[in-house]
Amino acid sequence: MHSFPFCPNPHCVWHTKAPDFPWAKPKGFYTTKAFGRVQRYQCSACHKTFSSQTFSLAYYVKKPVALSDILGRLQSGESLRAMSRNLGFSLRLLSNRIDRLARQALALHSQCLQARTGYDSVCIDGFVSFDTSQYFPSEIPIAITAHSQFILDVSHATRRRSGTMTPAQKKKAKELYERIPLERGALSRSFRDTLTSALSFQPPTALHPFVLITDEKPDYERVLFALNAFRTQTEQSRIVHLKIWSKLPRTLSNPLFSSNYIEREIRKDLANHQRETVCFNRNVANGMMRLSVYLMSHNYLKPFRIRAPKGSHPRTHAEAAGIPCALVEQFFAELTGGIRAFLSRVHLSEPMQRTWEKRWKTPGKDTPEYLPKYALA
Ligand SMILES: [Zn+2]
Repeated sequence: MHSFPFCPNPHCVWHTKAPDFPWAKPKGFYTTKAFGRVQRYQCSACHKTFSSQTFSLAYYVKKPVALSDILGRLQSGESLRAMSRNLGFSLRLLSNRIDRLARQALALHSQCLQARTGYDSVCIDGFVSFDTSQYFPSEIPIAITAHSQFILDVSHATRRRSGTMTPAQKKKAKELYERIPLERGALSRSFRDTLTSALSFQPPTALHPFVLITDEKPDYERVLFALNAFRTQTEQSRIVHLKIWSKLPRTLSNPLFSSNYIEREIRKDLANHQRETVCFNRNVANGMMRLSVYLMSHNYLKPFRIRAPKGSHPRTHAEAAGIPCALVEQFFAELTGGIRAFLSRVHLSEPMQRTWEKRWKTPGKDTPEYLPKYALA
């Protein structure tokens, strides 16, 4: 008898937690080219069969790849095509492994957020990049804690190109926007996404009002004022909005430092978000997967202060934000070799769920993204 932590069937009574007694009995085996002989098991409650591969991050994989290698390359600014050339893998295979990494990272992040004990002010600012072409700029609001630089959540909005354009560019823009409809009110929706997430992750209490720090964009205030939690706030659940003039020097003492900092890091580290890049996102859903992997590795793997003496605490942004050290230490092992995360067993925010299910829309693409069945189990 083998002991598995839960039954992989989402409709089974033992899906959340398996009983202490042996419940999975061996039932035959199958052979694969990638992993050789694999033992099958049967659950004694729902009688569904599964194998140890069902729990593996390499479920349905035909070619085993070291996920830690892909993660390292992604963090250090290697573009997808460069990775594909250097590792000798196709873009499709790479994208599949990045999706697996991203889902695993989002699940671990949601688990860590539930165990978080810290409290901090929250900065939200839109990071501007573009998808498919410069005619489709994207605004990516990121909710990040003000003192620990810990990412809480991230969303995405596609908007129209603004600023000075030549007559030919104006003509092309007009044609494109007539042909390709964009979501109305996307900027407000994406800001609301991250604000709602941040509020749910650290709801205000009598001792800790929720302090939101943004720049002076009127949209932000409008969305905040319309929010039920803001309108019905009491002394026990205060929400305070701090607006920062965007021309202030971008130093450590600027209250929006965290937003400025993460924007600089993303531009420096991710090939698809550098200015005037030719490695821009061809597909928004894939881009959000890649960004999620990067942001979660910023939280859980990157040192909180690069020049901090060895062994000093907090070592990572997550520890600085009040995530228990044990969870932070497990993060990397579980990200690249732990039990595969099941959607039915995790609690994700709305934007995280969209990323998981690849529901971010690419301008000009009408068909939904391909989603393997195992990703929805
Ligand atoms: Zn079962």
